[in-house]
Amino acid sequence: MLDFSSLLLAAALSGICLSVTMFAIWCTAPRAGFVLTVACGILVLVGHVVLFWRYTREPDPLLCQIVLALLSLGFMIICLSAMQYLGVPGYRRAVLPTLTAMTVCAAVTSLGLDGIGFIVTYATVTALLSAIGIMFWINGSHDRRILLVVSFLSGTCALSFALCSVVLLVQGQWTLSAAPDNWAERLNSVVAVACMTGLGALTLSLHHLQAQIELKAETLTDPLTGLMNRRGLTSLYGERTFGPFMAIAMFDLDHFKKTNDIYGHPVGDRVLCRFASVIRKYARTGVDAFRLGGEEFAIVMSRMTEERAHDLASKIGVAFGTEIVATQHGPLRSTVSGGIGFGGGDGASLDEVLAEADAALYAAKRAGRNCVIGRNRKGKADPVGPALRSA
Ligand code: GH3
Ligand code: MG
Ligand code: MG
Repeated sequence: MLDFSSLLLAAALSGICLSVTMFAIWCTAPRAGFVLTVACGILVLVGHVVLFWRYTREPDPLLCQIVLALLSLGFMIICLSAMQYLGVPGYRRAVLPTLTAMTVCAAVTSLGLDGIGFIVTYATVTALLSAIGIMFWINGSHDRRILLVVSFLSGTCALSFALCSVVLLVQGQWTLSAAPDNWAERLNSVVAVACMTGLGALTLSLHHLQAQIELKAETLTDPLTGLMNRRGLTSLYGERTFGPFMAIAMFDLDHFKKTNDIYGHPVGDRVLCRFASVIRKYARTGVDAFRLGGEEFAIVMSRMTEERAHDLASKIGVAFGTEIVATQHGPLRSTVSGGIGFGGGDGASLDEVLAEADAALYAAKRAGRNCVIGRNRKGKADPVGPALRSA
């Protein structure tokens, strides 16, 4: 037979070791705030376990309230850490109902109905653990295997707390005056120790996963403009087939070398950022923007007719032409040339469409710059292109 006190001791010890490990990890990677939050949540739960052990020996109404409050609080913090990790907004949605339940629990317990206090607390913990499981199930898009294990463990733990609450309800134990003692309680202490240890260990894997994701995002992002870089373009569209409603517009700032020579490199950088912000303004759903390198940019347009692609690319060119960058030598206005390559009915690769766009861009430069030219895949310059020339 399992000794209940030894189980509680094991839970407290394993919790302390886990949170110390997590604090250490957080110290080496302070950006992983969710690891610190999990560590705090586990410490609160360790506090609950220690006081609960004391409560099993010396039942006391005030101690009962504290024990129950710590249980809800600990799991609320764990739930917040899950939201933090997954980037789920609205912490209030977890905090407010938990605080309400804690208040109800404190009120009924102070009236002597500690059984109801336990039922309310177990129900709260069940809801919080279920929320964690559901959030990981729905929002986890990176490594499904780890996230599904997290969902499974929190679901199992939620079920064991739900059983504790159901047993008290079925037995009508509204007043206990001692720690509840039934088969569900004993099962719960084993399941909770196993699941919480597993969840704690998985937090380390999740931290590792997040670090990998952040690193990958960094390698795909241009640090100056914040747009995705050429590697990002290949990673998103390298394997894609460009059909008839997909197009790429390439942009190249006009006489940018002169801008650098006359106004200096830092002003050149500001012009690049300004162009990026113009592109961003027009990059709505179905449009992804990239800085390919130097003063070359591209947008990939999906689900768009050739006409609308022309329209969007030329709007970007015209909008940039109206932008003014203040410099020491007075206001600076720059222009950009653009070339569009289209996908086709037979499907085209990223490289093929980029080559078309590049050829069209070259045509735009030769046509006097400050214009956008479209080019179909047969290699002919689109007749409407020059008409889109911006003044
Ligand atoms: P064109 O109209 O034919 O495109 O002429 P251009 O002067 O724009 O083209 P060119 O290729 O001769 O010059 C591109 C310049 O872009 C040269 C390089 O110094 C500058 N450049 C590349 N990357 C950066 C950057 O990150 N910041 C700044 N300020 N300048 C850059
Ligand atoms: Mg260039
Ligand atoms: Mg240029």
